[in-house]
Amino acid sequence: MEKVYQYIEEHREMYIQWLQELCRQPSVAAQNRGMKETANAVEAFLDSIGAQVEQLETSGFPVVYGEINQGREKTLSFYNHYDVQPEDPIELWESDPFGAEIREGKIFARGVADNKGNLMARICAIHAYQQVYGELPINVKFIFEGEEEIGSVHLEEFTEKYRDKVQADGCIWEFGYKNPDGRLQVSLGVKGMCYIELRVKGANIDLHSANASVIENPAWRLIWALNTLKNEKEEILIDGFYDKVLSPNQMEKKLLEEMIYEEKATLENLDLEKFLLNLSGVPLKERLLFQPTCTICGIESGYTGEGAKTVLPSVAKVKLDFRLVPDQDHKEILQLVRKHLDKHGFEDIEIIDLTGEHPAKTNPGDPLVQAVVQHVEQVYGMPPTVQPLSPGTGPMYILCQKLGIPSVSLGVGNHQSQNHAPNENIYVQDYIDGIKMMATIVHNFDHKSTLS
Ligand SMILES: [Zn+2]
Repeated sequence: MEKVYQYIEEHREMYIQWLQELCRQPSVAAQNRGMKETANAVEAFLDSIGAQVEQLETSGFPVVYGEINQGREKTLSFYNHYDVQPEDPIELWESDPFGAEIREGKIFARGVADNKGNLMARICAIHAYQQVYGELPINVKFIFEGEEEIGSVHLEEFTEKYRDKVQADGCIWEFGYKNPDGRLQVSLGVKGMCYIELRVKGANIDLHSANASVIENPAWRLIWALNTLKNEKEEILIDGFYDKVLSPNQMEKKLLEEMIYEEKATLENLDLEKFLLNLSGVPLKERLLFQPTCTICGIESGYTGEGAKTVLPSVAKVKLDFRLVPDQDHKEILQLVRKHLDKHGFEDIEIIDLTGEHPAKTNPGDPLVQAVVQHVEQVYGMPPTVQPLSPGTGPMYILCQKLGIPSVSLGVGNHQSQNHAPNENIYVQDYIDGIKMMATIVHNFDHKSTLS
C-alpha cells in the first residue's frame, strides 16, 4: 500500500480541492436547494474515476449510483449521502458555510463531516488506487442518496426497486469519528426506532376548569397511560417488549470492555452528578448500546404560558420514541404498544405512527470487519476502538442486513465535527488518512485476489 499512500500524499492538494468544490455546492434537501446541481457534480466525479454512473429516480431526490465492475469475485459498496442540513443559524458561523475555508488545519463547511468528506474520500481512494495499480482487486458500487437528512424517506422503495444494484458482499457505511484520545472509531451497527404520538381527547373544546369535577381531563388520562409504560427502575412494562432483545455475544462483550466512554467529561459537560441507575463502567456501556429505550420527547396539553389560566384541556398529546436494539422490529413494537394500552383500559388513546427504523448490526467476526479493523493501525498508527452498535439510528438495515450484507461504519470526522451545527468541520489530515484507509480496505477486502 505504500505506493498508494505516497500517491495520495503527492496529490493531497488536488483531493482537498475536489472536496472544497463539492462543499461549495449547497445541497439542502429540506429546502430543495441545489440538489440537482449537486447530484450532477457527484455524477461527474464518479464518471471521472471510470465508474458506470446514473441517477436513479425515486419519488424524491435521485440516488447517484456508480459501479466499477471488472468481473472480480467480491463486491464492496459504499453508502453515502450528498444532501446536507440547513446552515442556520448563519450568524454563528465564523466563515461562509459554503465557502469550505481552511484554517488551523481544518476545513469548515456545511456537510463537510456529514457527509461530503466521507463521500469524497471514497471517490479519491478509488482514484488513487487505480492510478497506482491500473485496476481494482474487487468490484465497487457507490450508493449516494440525496435524502438522508430528511429521513431517507425513499430509500426502502429504492432498495426494493434496484435490489440487484444494491447487492454486495459488504458495505462501508457513511460516517465515523475519532475519539477524544485520537483513536478511530469503527461501528458495527445502529439502533432502530419506533417513533409515535399518543393523543387523548376529552371534551370538544377547552373548558372552564370548574367543570373538572364532572368532566374527564385528557392530560391526567395521558399521564396515567404513560405511567403504565415504564417504572422507576427504568423497566419498560409492555408485554413482550424485551422478547427479541439480544444480549451481547462474547466478542461484543470484549469490545464493550475496550470501548472508550468518557464518563467524567460527559457528566461534567452536562452538569450532572451521575448516570441513570447510578451505572458506570461496562454495565453503563452495555446499557447505552444494547438496551432499548422509551423516551418522552415532549408533552403538550392545556395552558403553559405566563400566569394562571384555569382551564380544562380538550386534548393531550405526547411524542414518544423507542430506540430499538437487534432483533426488535418497529412494526411489532407498535402492535405491542397498542395491545398494552388496550389491556390497561386506554382503548380510546390514538396512536400515530410517525417513523420507524429496524435496528442493524454486523457480527464482529465477519470478514469485512476484520478487513477493516486489522488495517487501521497501518494508516493511523493506533488501533481503532470498535463499537459493536451505535446508540444512534440510521437506515442501515434496509440497505444491508435485510439483504444479508454485512456493514461497517468509519469515516473522517472528529469528536467535535459539529454535525448539523454551525462551524461543521473535519481535519484536513483526517480526510487524507480517510482516503488512505478506504484504499486499504479495497486492497484487503478479498484476501485471495489482493494485487501486489
Ligand atoms: Zn446528518
